[in-house]
Amino acid sequence: MSELDHTHDPALTSWVHSANGHRDFPIQNLPLGVFSAEGTERRIGVAIGDFILDLTQATDLLDEEHREDLGHPLLNAWLARGPGAQRALRHRLSELLSDTRYRDDVEPMLIGQSEATMHLPCLIGDYTDFYVGIHHATNVGKQFRPDQPLLPNYKYVPIGYHGRASSVRVSGEPVMRPSGQRKAPDADAPVFGPSRRLDYELELGIWIGAGNRLGSPIPIGEAADHIAGYCLLNDWSTRDVQAWEYQPLGPFLAKNFLTSISPWVVTGEALKPFRVAAMPRSASDPEPLDYLRDQDAEPGLGLTVEALISTEAMRAGGLAPHRLSHGEAAAAMYWTVNQIIAHHTVNGCNLQPGDLIGTGTLSTADGEGLGSLLEISKGGKQPLTLPSGETRSFLEDGDEVILTARAEAAGAVSIGFGECRGLVVA
Ligand code: CA
Repeated sequence: MSELDHTHDPALTSWVHSANGHRDFPIQNLPLGVFSAEGTERRIGVAIGDFILDLTQATDLLDEEHREDLGHPLLNAWLARGPGAQRALRHRLSELLSDTRYRDDVEPMLIGQSEATMHLPCLIGDYTDFYVGIHHATNVGKQFRPDQPLLPNYKYVPIGYHGRASSVRVSGEPVMRPSGQRKAPDADAPVFGPSRRLDYELELGIWIGAGNRLGSPIPIGEAADHIAGYCLLNDWSTRDVQAWEYQPLGPFLAKNFLTSISPWVVTGEALKPFRVAAMPRSASDPEPLDYLRDQDAEPGLGLTVEALISTEAMRAGGLAPHRLSHGEAAAAMYWTVNQIIAHHTVNGCNLQPGDLIGTGTLSTADGEGLGSLLEISKGGKQPLTLPSGETRSFLEDGDEVILTARAEAAGAVSIGFGECRGLVVA
């Protein structure tokens, strides 16, 4: 297991009582985000239980370096500092929120999460989406290319494409059904109109901390030092547009109309107790090339990721959201996050603080953990029946998709990511 310290101690509690036993934000988590509340500008805060500690108010209690970083309404400066400074801030926040000596000073700086609006945590210079979910790649490949689901490069190259940073939005942004070209397999020509196959993709997002200079690849052994944290990511996709446009250059308008993320940056430090081994490779798989050899014994993310749906009729009927999938992230990822970073930069491509990298859809091998409706409904051939009696092959107007992630391990306090929500509107 990676080196843990007193901030991970399961016995540690906060004087913010709602943090103790909190589903997502106990004192062992301490994720940063950007929020505003009535009458305030955007500012950086840390989630603790049902509250947010406003760090712009807490600057007198922080080191000068942190004071400068946290005085902005964006996390980029903090992300650029790298792991040492980020760990130091975590230690200080843990102290302020656990030691009752600070309670009188700090308590007035807390704002209820229900009174706050969350924003994008940083200025995202670039967004890249990978495709490391091997079961997803196989399931989708079967539908697009039944004769060759997994292309020959898949087990050598962590496949990815450059996405669109400008349309990344925080949880809660409405999903306006996009229009585009689609062509039925037996039609002579495409038609234009609102997508009939709007889908979600259950993914994790990786936040880049310290970047690398153009021309200087990040060796795989140093990749973890460039990852500041993680979020949930929903790569909304129009499958009908995708099927027609994807060859020869890959995803374009089927993906770039919106990408939703959860607002809190859950740090690599907070996830240390939950690292697990990478997905085992079968004996017949090729060995990774040298630059992709991950020597980390536990590079996997011990996270359970989940997708839920709530339709308009379900909400009207008082029905709880229905779980679409539930599975272990590490059981879905053929390539580790370290391999993703090493591959992205091996040609000298420069990552910058605040860059966002999606893992790709995380589907497990079994039917319980399929990370998109395309897979669940077998391309629309087997619609899913919901508790309301409604059926779904793809998303309809009024449907809301909710993603969650949760880290659990023996001897550790569980932490969560919060939620990534999006409601489909016409
Ligand atoms: Ca994707």
